[in-house]
Amino acid sequence: MPADAIVFDVDDTLYDLAEPYRAAYAEVFAGAYDLPVDALFTKSRWYSDRALDLLTAGKISEEDHKVLRVQWTFADWGVDVSRADALRFQAAYAAAQEHITPYPEAVEALDACAAAGVPVGIISNGDAPHQRCKLHLLGLDKRVDERLVVVSGDYNVHKPALVLFVAMEGLLGVSGAGIWYVGDTYETDIVGAKRAGWSAIWVDVRGRAVPDVPERPDKVVHSPAQMRDAVFALFKE
Ligand SMILES: [Mg+2]
Repeated sequence: MPADAIVFDVDDTLYDLAEPYRAAYAEVFAGAYDLPVDALFTKSRWYSDRALDLLTAGKISEEDHKVLRVQWTFADWGVDVSRADALRFQAAYAAAQEHITPYPEAVEALDACAAAGVPVGIISNGDAPHQRCKLHLLGLDKRVDERLVVVSGDYNVHKPALVLFVAMEGLLGVSGAGIWYVGDTYETDIVGAKRAGWSAIWVDVRGRAVPDVPERPDKVVHSPAQMRDAVFALFKE
């Protein structure tokens, strides 16, 4: 299916979300515990989505959201993290996030879209000002039209909610399988895009298990370079 538009997830699709997590761990916990940071990070992503569910439903505060995702994650390795340490970790993580850089291959993919005249959109889960600031920090605001950025916080839902994908269709002025979505989190990105009738590229850099759901990606890639090449290939179909 040729591409009418290509829409990207941000975290862990256009940049390595684990890098600031590793830096924060080294700063706050490395002297105290010897834990597998990348596994911790992967689990934290899952708990972060569960905490976001509670925040979105109005059941917990913003601060609880930050604390719980740290405490739940470390509890899986038998470590009780105090509220104060969870907040210290969160602060270090936020500080490290100010120094993020995009995958060079992601930049190449975005530039190829521009060269091909194919519109590029973003659908990202999270707080809208935070995610838009992240695009700026990554320098991607220069490569993506800000009118084609949908952040879940603006809609009081999060991916895989259909409303976010429908909103993007409205912004793009096209719909259906000619829109390709590129994302790393199966349950939110692939499930959401396929339910919307889009085509999907699953960026499975961390080797995650495929959940037992009917939605299936059209392409699976395992590195930023493969993601770039899969995007390049869309212009040849
Ligand atoms: Mg992601």
